Amino acid sequence: MEIVVIPCLYDNYSYLVVHGKKAAVVDPSEAWPVMKVVDDRGLKLSAVLCTHHHHDHIGGLPDLLDEYGTLEVYGFFQDRKRIPLMTRPLRDNERFSVCGLDVDVFHTPGHTSTHVVFHIEGHLFVGDTLFGGGCGRLFEGTAEQMVHSLDRILSCGKQSRIYFGHEYTELNLRFASQVDPSNPAISERAARVGEMRRKDMPSAPSLLEEELATNPFLRIEDSSIIDQLEKEQRLQSTDRVAVFAALREQRNHFS
Ligand code: ZN
Ligand code: FE
Repeated sequence: MEIVVIPCLYDNYSYLVVHGKKAAVVDPSEAWPVMKVVDDRGLKLSAVLCTHHHHDHIGGLPDLLDEYGTLEVYGFFQDRKRIPLMTRPLRDNERFSVCGLDVDVFHTPGHTSTHVVFHIEGHLFVGDTLFGGGCGRLFEGTAEQMVHSLDRILSCGKQSRIYFGHEYTELNLRFASQVDPSNPAISERAARVGEMRRKDMPSAPSLLEEELATNPFLRIEDSSIIDQLEKEQRLQSTDRVAVFAALREQRNHFS
């Protein structure tokens, strides 16, 4: 299996999962960059996996269906109305097969109430739930739901590769260094990512281990992050959900 990172729109990533000559695309923001890879390589596109209904993740669907005819379109069953082209509604924890590969789906509410993550052989397609150095905004879910969703991602193991929906890593790491200033892993990663971005290389995928070391939203039990938040009087309690909520709130106003 191979995964091709396909930059789309301004800062989105779609991902092409390739197995032999078969392919499936995750979150096609727009069609033509996906079609270019599929056609240049002579692949057969058979499936679309949708993490959530936002237009920057499904905008390419109509044109892909026009171009390739029938495609199976997978998404969470509660997104059926919001992803009208869906053909295969999925339940939490369902296992299915695309391109001869097993896919597991997890419901990860937070960014939207119906967001899902796809797990294929140690590769996690996390949409807008987790980002390099950050996490998605809470548009429809609560902090508690998002913490639970991130815990489910963590349960997949440190060696999992994280394929996130947007290239926000540099800004996220600037925020991380502000809330976790004594963590040397953040500046090391920021230097590495800065170098890659100057060469126009994507910072995706990352390793979950790397996120655990640098992403404040996965470090909500870290005493120096908690101390920092307490110093700024942003915490009502030090439980994980309260720490997460305070960090998320602070990140909403960071630019
Ligand atoms: Zn989104
Ligand atoms: Fe998005």
